[in-house]
Amino acid sequence: MNKIKMKTPLVEMDGDEMTRVIWQWIKEILILPYVGLKTEYYDLGLANRDSTLDKVTADSAEATKKYGVAVKCATITPNAERVKEYNLKKMWNSPNGTIRRILDGTVFRTPIIAEGITPYVHGWKKPIVIARHAYGDIYNSVEDRIKGGEKAYLVVCGEDGSELRRKLIHGFESDGIVQGVHNLDSSVEAFARSCFNYALEQGISVWMGAKDTVSKIYDHRFKDIFADIYSAEYRQAFEKAGLYFMYTLIDDVVARVVRSEGGMLWVCKNYDGDVMSDMVATAYGSLGMMTSTLVSPDGKYEYEAAHGTVTRHYRRHMSGETTSTNPVATIFAWTGALRKRGELDAINELCGFADRLERATVSTIEDGFMTGDLIDRFRREGVTPVKLDSKDFLLKIAERI
Ligand code: NAP
Ligand code: MG
Repeated sequence: MNKIKMKTPLVEMDGDEMTRVIWQWIKEILILPYVGLKTEYYDLGLANRDSTLDKVTADSAEATKKYGVAVKCATITPNAERVKEYNLKKMWNSPNGTIRRILDGTVFRTPIIAEGITPYVHGWKKPIVIARHAYGDIYNSVEDRIKGGEKAYLVVCGEDGSELRRKLIHGFESDGIVQGVHNLDSSVEAFARSCFNYALEQGISVWMGAKDTVSKIYDHRFKDIFADIYSAEYRQAFEKAGLYFMYTLIDDVVARVVRSEGGMLWVCKNYDGDVMSDMVATAYGSLGMMTSTLVSPDGKYEYEAAHGTVTRHYRRHMSGETTSTNPVATIFAWTGALRKRGELDAINELCGFADRLERATVSTIEDGFMTGDLIDRFRREGVTPVKLDSKDFLLKIAERI
């Protein structure tokens, strides 16, 4: 068989534990037999991050800037236990955080839908894509504990340090707490453009919520920036594509999303996105069925699964057991990256292969063959679900390509 040829390499970011094992199997069983795969390989496994003093992570992000498309395996973000386990030189930062900082991107999380795996919210028929603003708010906040009798102010100074404005936050009669948060117009603007571009590309409308009635300056700024950029740069394209942008209060968005059938891009401020993306992922069935795409404002793409390295399964794998770890989100990371590469290099066969592999994956589940995390959730007339281990599941998919 003639393999599909590629022009530009994909940036391949290998990772850790169970997902590193599955990474290799996906390539061997589902990709290499059909595609003359070209990648520039970066080993982001924790041991190699440690021995390169984490330079490999920055290098892989720079390569993504150069080539435009990356596919990433889940990686360990070290904590104190991992520092001991891997005898690390340092508690290295989260690779995803490093890559996001370098690419200045927005993360879009999308559930993968298969018939039979019914979302907990029964009305949801289409994916709800969540865009989380990944800068500022409480994630870069300054906090303090205040004693009774003290006063806290918001003070703004000029470049020379001289005081320009001062507002009383609260005069504390008793002990309490205070928090200072910030954001940047430029970051919100880049976020808005990433969201509108992504929605146009996916052919979905945009819903956004914040609390501008209470936060009349801070949240209102998000509302205004989105509204201005939409009408100046995107309204025409959206209307032509039959799409729309809706802003409403965050609590109203939540209510509308639950009543909806899905199929929109839900734009979230940082904290809302943190919370709602886990809610949405769980409601659709399994973490193993959620993909994540990082898109930079200048159109660079990094695809990955939303879940982690599935440590508990890896321990079992290492003790010689077979595990039924769900590879679907990682397969969709590969198909997302291959399709994008195909689009950019005008290789129709590569886009076609990505479509075919996704259909083969979903139809394998719909026909009743799946990993253990999905078994209890599967309901389909006349189909009795069969639990397979990861490798047998991949082989079943291969039969359908
Ligand atoms: P996790 O790897 O997502 O796993 C949490 C649990 O969710 C698993 O124990 C498993 O439950 C279930 N699960 C997740 N993915 C699954 C899949 N594909 N198939 C079947 N079940 C799946 O999260 P974690 O245990 O909190 O984190 C483990 C490591 O991953 C950490 O070192 C963390 O730093 C890293 N992490 C990396 C990323 C990333 O690279 N994007 C994201 C999150 C976490 P059962 O054990 O009950 O079967
Ligand atoms: Mg969260």
